[in-house]
Amino acid sequence: MTGQTFDLDAVLRPRLPSPLQPVADERFDRYGVRLLLKRDDLIHPDLPGNKWRKLVPNLRAAAGRTVLTFGGAYSNHLRATASAGRLLGFPTIGVVRGDELATRPLNPSLRRCADDGMRLLFTDRATYRAKDDPAVLARILRDAGTGTAAGLRSDDVYVVPEGGSNAAAAHGCRELGRELRDLDEDIDVVAVACGTGGTLAGLAAGLGADQRAIGFPVLRGGFLGDAIRALQTAAFGGPAGDWSLDDRFHFGGYARTSPGLDAFAGDFEERHGLPMERVYVAKALYGLSVLAAEGAFPSGTTVAAVVTGQENRSAQASSR
Ligand SMILES: *Cc1c(COP(=O)(O)O)cnc(C)c1O
Repeated sequence: MTGQTFDLDAVLRPRLPSPLQPVADERFDRYGVRLLLKRDDLIHPDLPGNKWRKLVPNLRAAAGRTVLTFGGAYSNHLRATASAGRLLGFPTIGVVRGDELATRPLNPSLRRCADDGMRLLFTDRATYRAKDDPAVLARILRDAGTGTAAGLRSDDVYVVPEGGSNAAAAHGCRELGRELRDLDEDIDVVAVACGTGGTLAGLAAGLGADQRAIGFPVLRGGFLGDAIRALQTAAFGGPAGDWSLDDRFHFGGYARTSPGLDAFAGDFEERHGLPMERVYVAKALYGLSVLAAEGAFPSGTTVAAVVTGQENRSAQASSR
């Protein structure tokens, strides 16, 4: 067991609370809606945004053990986990969806993971889908152990679910809600893009009684409400906070886009000098602008949009 995890904050040095930045944008001003950006992308250069908030409580629990986690070929979560392993000096294993990737050159995102010392295990899609089944997980751990000098015992490994979303992560993201609650100015609505929903589950739990959260799923499917309720039950003992989902802005699915969304994101970048992450953040802000135009917010409403991550050129390439 290593001691360095106790210095986790000192090594990772987060910028918290993350800055809150007003932006003047006529797509909101026109309707009397004040828009603020909650700059979680500035929390840490290598573990940006919600990835820091979700991972750090898990790294504390892992206490220096090997961390094994899951992700797709362009997963921000895998990259953040690999960076944390390098910075803090614990071993990481990434189980990557798609065994066909094993025989191809690594894409830039996986290259970074490998350069940070993450061992990559490429898994066929059926196994990947079934990874929450204890028997399947046991098999993955067994395979992870072969090829290591001493093998791997499951007690030596701390497993973080896909996207990093579990009860510990929801607790970490509750701090995001609390930062937005404990302010001099009143924020009425908080908007966030959702992948697995862990961020929204925690955020909503940390907000004040007169605040609400809107989640914009970037995946198709409409399964997210149940997942968020389950996470909140695991983390907080039951449903927490006032939250809802708007399922209209996934643009066909993960990393899918449209000319309209690209134009919106490019325009926002130009006006506000802020590189806009395309897989998640752009969809949430686009959705928010449509809601404003639909009259969803009474004049005088203050909305904070969470900038959950940084633009990442290698992920963007995947949507092309
Ligand atoms: C991972 C990620 C999300 C999704 O967070 P969930 O907790 O899985 O809903 C949102 N935005 C960015 C930039 C991300 O990297």
